[in-house]
Amino acid sequence: MFENLSDRLGGVFDRLTKQGALSEDDVTAAMREVRVALLEADVSLPVARSFVKAVTGKATGAAVTKSVTPGQQVVKIVHDELIKVLQGEGEPDALRIDNPPAPILMVGLQGSGKTTTTAKLAKRLKDREKKRVLMASLDTNRPAAMEQLAILGTQIGVDTLPIVPGENAVQIARRAKQQASLGGYDVYMLDTAGRLHIDQVLMDEVQAVRDVANPRETLLVVDGLTGQDAVNVATEFDAKVGVSGVVLTRMDGDGRGGAALSMRAVTGKPIRFVGLGEKMDAIEVFDAHRIAGRILG
Ligand code: GDP
Repeated sequence: MFENLSDRLGGVFDRLTKQGALSEDDVTAAMREVRVALLEADVSLPVARSFVKAVTGKATGAAVTKSVTPGQQVVKIVHDELIKVLQGEGEPDALRIDNPPAPILMVGLQGSGKTTTTAKLAKRLKDREKKRVLMASLDTNRPAAMEQLAILGTQIGVDTLPIVPGENAVQIARRAKQQASLGGYDVYMLDTAGRLHIDQVLMDEVQAVRDVANPRETLLVVDGLTGQDAVNVATEFDAKVGVSGVVLTRMDGDGRGGAALSMRAVTGKPIRFVGLGEKMDAIEVFDAHRIAGRILG
C-alpha cells in the first residue's frame, strides 16, 4: 500500500542521513519534498501541511541540527509525527462489547467490503475472544447480499439471523436484537445496506436502524484504495449517523495510502481495523506503529 510513499521518503532521508551536518535550509528543503510525497500519496492538503509544519518546527532547532546524527533525529521526529497523525493522541480503544448482547452496526457504501468485514470481525470475536456472535443482513434490496452473509456465516461457523422475505431493515434489526437476547449471544452485528453513493434514503434507513439497535459500536467500512474519497465518505457518515470507528479495507492493494494518513486528522475518528485481503482471516487491528514502520521502511 505505501510503496511509493515509502520509496520517496526513503530517498529524502537517505540523503539527509548521509549528509552529516544539517542546516535549517537543508531540513526545510527536505520537508518540501516530504510534503510533495504526502500529496502524491493522496494525503489531504491540510494534513500534509500541518504534518510538515510540525516536523519542521521540531527538526530545525539547534538540538537537532547541531547534534551528532541530525539526519537520524529528523527521521525519528517524522516517525513520531506519523504515529500521531495515524492514531491521534493516546492509545487505541478495544471494541466495546461488554453488556451482552452488544450491538455492532456496520455501515458503508456498497462494494466497500462491508459484508466481508462483518464476517471477518465476527470470526475474530469468536476465535480470539470466545464470543457468541449473531450476524444479520439488513440489505433487503439485494437478496444476494443477504445470501452472501449466510454463506460466510456457515463458512466461519457464526450464526446468521434467518432470512424472512418481506421484512424491512428496521424489522430485521428488531428481530436480531430479540434473537440475540433470547439466544444468549454476546454480540450481534447488523450489516446494513449500502448504496453506490451517499443518499438520503440510505441515511434515513441507517438512522432508523441505529435508533432501534442503539449500537455500542458503529463501524464504518471504507475502501482504502479510494484515498481522499474515503475520508469524505467518513465525514458524511459521521455527520449523519455518528461513527465510532473506521475499518479501512483493501490495504493489501496498491493504493497510495492517503486515506490511512488523513482519516484521523480530518474526521477525528480512529481507524480500528484494516482489511488485508479477501480471506476471512485477512484483517488486523490498526497499529499506527507498524504502519509508520512500514512507511519509513
Ligand atoms: P459490500 O458491498 O460493502 O458488502 O462489499 P463486499 O463485502 O461484498 O466486498 C466486495 C469485494 O471486495 C469482495 O470481492 C470482497 O472479497 C472484496 N474485499 C473485501 N475486503 C477486502 C480487502 O481487505 N482486500 C481485498 N483485496 N478485497 C477485499
